[in-house]
Amino acid sequence: MNLRDKYIMEKFNIDENVLNYCNKVEEEIKDKFEKIDQITEYNQLKVLAAMQKNRLSDTHFASTTGYGYNDLGRDTLEQVYADVFNTEDALVRPQIISGTHALTVALAGNLRPGDEILSPVGVPYDTLQGVIGIREEKGSLKEYGISYRQVDLLPDGSFDFEGIKNALNDKTKLVTIQRSKGYEYRESFSVEKIGTLIKFIKDLRPDVICMVDNCYGEFVDYKEPSDVGADLIVGSLIKNPGGGLAPIGGYIAGKKEYVENAAVRLTSPGLGKEVGATLGVIPSFFQGLFNAPQVVGGSVKGAVFLSKLFEGLGFGVLPTPDEKRADIVQCVQMGSAENVIAFCCGIQKGAPVDSFVAPEPWDMPGYDCPVIMAAGAFVQGSSIELSADAPIKPPYNVFFQGGLSWHHAKIGIMIGLQTMVDRKLIKL
Ligand SMILES: *Cc1c(COP(=O)(O)O)cnc(C)c1O
Repeated sequence: MNLRDKYIMEKFNIDENVLNYCNKVEEEIKDKFEKIDQITEYNQLKVLAAMQKNRLSDTHFASTTGYGYNDLGRDTLEQVYADVFNTEDALVRPQIISGTHALTVALAGNLRPGDEILSPVGVPYDTLQGVIGIREEKGSLKEYGISYRQVDLLPDGSFDFEGIKNALNDKTKLVTIQRSKGYEYRESFSVEKIGTLIKFIKDLRPDVICMVDNCYGEFVDYKEPSDVGADLIVGSLIKNPGGGLAPIGGYIAGKKEYVENAAVRLTSPGLGKEVGATLGVIPSFFQGLFNAPQVVGGSVKGAVFLSKLFEGLGFGVLPTPDEKRADIVQCVQMGSAENVIAFCCGIQKGAPVDSFVAPEPWDMPGYDCPVIMAAGAFVQGSSIELSADAPIKPPYNVFFQGGLSWHHAKIGIMIGLQTMVDRKLIKL
């Protein structure tokens, strides 16, 4: 037995059956890893080229305070993001406190009373429902006279083009497309599919703003939604593009006019992008972006590994190991609350931070059942770091994502599986 395997068994209490099964699965997905590596390399070069083009220099790593006028680092970072995502402009700020906030700013900045939002891909992410006013919340867009319309996916998961055509009307100002599945048991949309949907909408209504919630999708594929016609893409820096190093932040990239509309909402009318001190975080934004393709590649490998591992044990998995990836999220239908809890406890045990605590389901605000969340992250709530969440209700889906490296994702998953074996929930 090699030193690595011996260490895994001794230090992390992995038994021989689990070790052998995991090693066998790892061997079987080698060819998929090669394809992932090619995407990683492409995206690494894309980020490198953007930094070189913008003559990134250590003068850009200086910190600003107060109003933050003439923050060269911030302005250069935004130009680098715009180049990476092939957009006219970008807003990348520590004052954007999360993905939900970035989406809120993009929506509120670009919509006016009387306008309508259309989601052609079914119900949006839980927190967005409160922002739009699908779920009553104080301060929702609905309170400002902005209406919402939704077209569900067809039973086979495809776009309802006829329904979308009928839903577009004189009030429709913005179409929101969520790339990742979120907590829904549906496919995450490939960039190619998103391109098809945007083209369909633009052919009918070229004036409508097409916005993509790009959370969990960045650097998973060669292209981004902004390469295939999206007017705005929006995401969180404590997910993919922060590369695990950004301690906070969000981005909005796209057409200059729409980014500007978001900027005057984030700061103030008349101020826009010109203000916003960066308080020393800019180096971590640059370095995180530089690392992001590598980190995302490791996360995708972990997702494929988990998918293959549990498919082989007879569990329902989405996506399957052979499907093309559109985001870093892997869903496994665990079938029972005990399985979910055991797996999540294992993921927690494998974390670098808080490995000694056990996660428990709790009644989180905004959910209709208890939710369990396993995460031991350097940045609180960061889900580009190894994490697993699950609403405790049938069919007991676990949503797994992240891992700052493939090797960490692998050991986390192994401990998750071992915990299920130890609790006699599955037999290998
Ligand atoms: C995470 C996520 C969000 C919200 O991001 P937060 O940073 O948690 O507010 C929105 N949409 C999708 C698809 C996400 O995965």
